[in-house]
Amino acid sequence: MGSITLQNVSKTFGEVSVIPSIDLEINDGEFAVFVGPSGCGKSTLLRLIAGLEDTSGGRILIDGKDATDLAPSQRGLAMVFQSYALYPHMSVRSNIGFPLKMAKMNKAEIDRKVEEAAKILNLTDYLERKPRNLSGGQRQRVAIGRAIVRSPECFLFDEPLSNLDAALRVNMRLEISELHQKLNATSIYVTHDQVEAMTMADKIVVLNKGRIEQVGSPLDLYRSPRNLFVAGFIGSPK
Ligand code: ADP
Ligand code: MG
Repeated sequence: MGSITLQNVSKTFGEVSVIPSIDLEINDGEFAVFVGPSGCGKSTLLRLIAGLEDTSGGRILIDGKDATDLAPSQRGLAMVFQSYALYPHMSVRSNIGFPLKMAKMNKAEIDRKVEEAAKILNLTDYLERKPRNLSGGQRQRVAIGRAIVRSPECFLFDEPLSNLDAALRVNMRLEISELHQKLNATSIYVTHDQVEAMTMADKIVVLNKGRIEQVGSPLDLYRSPRNLFVAGFIGSPK
């Protein structure tokens, strides 16, 4: 359950090849981090996996099955973005339950799922509040709540903490790592922050100009960076 395989995946926008060809294996239950400078294709790659963009070539397997042509909602994934667009007029309860309401789940079941998610995310006391009456960290947790109610096998995070201040970022890093463990899910986490990558990842994928420079554990990359780009990015002494 929850493994993700990219085979020769490419993406071209008009004439521009943003991702020439990527092969990658993310194992079930792994916390993978895509790291690399701004514009290197991290978000594009995540959006291809989510099905929010069509691939120009190659195949995407989820859980061993070809998902290349599946709609986003059929992929068993949930995505958490940097700008967590919560509905301002709705309570936290309604925001978290929204995807289930769209899926026509009955109200009692929605309430049960929302309360379960709120408990995991320490939002139980805030369910009847509006987003404007929450802190930045609480809002981000509501956005994560909206992703976990559907019990996805895999989470995709696109720089979810970049709008938060430094202290809160450290807290949320821990919370997301814990959540990943608790839910026993596969996670892909995009960031341009090497500290986040080094502290959160089981597997780091270093990207540069749409290509993979190196894949490995934080320790592998720190000890044996394959080239100067990786060394510079990981901040090792080499
Ligand atoms: P990152 O998330 O690593 O900052 P992106 O995946 O957002 O990088 O972008 C990679 C490259 O693809 C950039 O050069 C960007 O301008 C380009 N790009 C992304 N989306 C589109 C699009 N919809 N149309 C044209 N070019 C795009
Ligand atoms: Mg991006």
